[in-house]
Amino acid sequence: MKEINPRAADHAEYRQAIRDLCSRFGSDYWQDVDSRAEYPEKFVQALTDAGWLAALIPTEYGGGGLGVTEASVILEEVNRSGANSGACHAQMYIMGTLLRHGSAEQKQRYLPAIARGELRLQSFAVTEPSAGTDTTKIKTFAERRGDRYVVNGQKMWISRVQHSDLMLLLARTTPLADVTRKAEGLSVFLIDLRDAESRGLAVRPIRNMVNHETNEVFFDDFEIPAENLIGEEGRGFRYILDGMNAERILIAAECIGDGYWFVDRARKYARERTVFDRPIGQNQGVQFPIARSYANVRAADLMRYEAARLYDAGLPCGAEANMAKLLAADSSWEAANVCLQTHGGLGFAAEFDVERKFRETRLYQVAPVSTNLILSYLGEHVLEMPRSF
Ligand SMILES: Cc1cc2nc3c(=O)[nH]c(=O)nc-3n(C[C@H](O)[C@H](O)[C@H](O)COP(=O)(O)OP(=O)(O)OC[C@H]3O[C@@H](n4cnc5c(N)ncnc54)[C@H](O)[C@@H]3O)c2cc1C
Repeated sequence: MKEINPRAADHAEYRQAIRDLCSRFGSDYWQDVDSRAEYPEKFVQALTDAGWLAALIPTEYGGGGLGVTEASVILEEVNRSGANSGACHAQMYIMGTLLRHGSAEQKQRYLPAIARGELRLQSFAVTEPSAGTDTTKIKTFAERRGDRYVVNGQKMWISRVQHSDLMLLLARTTPLADVTRKAEGLSVFLIDLRDAESRGLAVRPIRNMVNHETNEVFFDDFEIPAENLIGEEGRGFRYILDGMNAERILIAAECIGDGYWFVDRARKYARERTVFDRPIGQNQGVQFPIARSYANVRAADLMRYEAARLYDAGLPCGAEANMAKLLAADSSWEAANVCLQTHGGLGFAAEFDVERKFRETRLYQVAPVSTNLILSYLGEHVLEMPRSF
């Protein structure tokens, strides 16, 4: 059957290399780690060894020096193959904060080691139980004491902590009551996690709907050398926002990969499965939802390429990056639902992978940014309607 993604041959070299790598980690591998709620360590190590997670690190630091367009193709292919980029995607976009705002010394110290695969920067700690989406209300506080910061507080839903050497932390360094604008007084730190648990950092895993290593993290007088502050104290919120367009585009690409996977699986099953003496796909009630979800995945894909093009050209792309994430997450979720419905009872059977991918793609309606927050960005900043919060 012919390929349904008309751009499947674009960036052929990267796509083929990822397909080859992913073919070593088939359905059985993903079902096995999923059933045991185990981190897909071998897969992540293989991607790291091949240099793919360093795609966005400039060549001067030993990385791939690729653009967001190529990086997005890499993650799209991972998800298109049936795998799950969520185990490791964050390294691609987290390191952007270090690259753009870190000092020359910090970049030299960490980026080459990350590019060589010796260090993993997979963990990004922003969310807190009481603040939720209202990030400027976070309470984790880093107090400067001489040449150190002492951190106290709690984070929630912090992913890959147990499989990362480094973490980027957003914490308050000036109390909310003492700043004129609520986005001020937040700072970003790079934390070495390797011996952190003996120094006042506690990690409690959260059992969740997907096989996603995510945790509550507690800081109890946890000390960070002042030299691990990224950029200027108090400007951390801006640094985090700077990285969001790349994050949105990369997550959109993962959803596109999922979307094509679901549509492909659905159309194949609809052609093969015979009930009432005809293929179920001959019934328009089965065929049309698959066709509609295909149209929506394709449309979202166009927005993803447009956002990536603008990003790589250094042009403003906030609207396009947000719309790409919104449309891609919606279309992959629609395709997931249609694929599961098309498979009938077998959609629920783990051996078909549909129920696993269904759970995995559902996450992107909520994290790393929820759909409502994107709509509010578009409503306020693009369409100039009144600010709602
Ligand atoms: C598996 C998983 C992994 C994650 N990994 C990380 C991670 O590595 N690092 C990290 O920092 N965070 C992580 N998160 C957290 C994630 O970013 C948040 O869950 C997400 O941003 C939503 O925040 P919340 O859960 O606090 O929801 P809340 O802020 O409590 O919101 C609940 C719902 O209400 C909606 N809502 C809230 N306010 C408004 C409003 N004013 N208008 C309209 N709708 C509104 C939201 O859109 C959401 O749907 C992860 C979450 C999950 C589930």
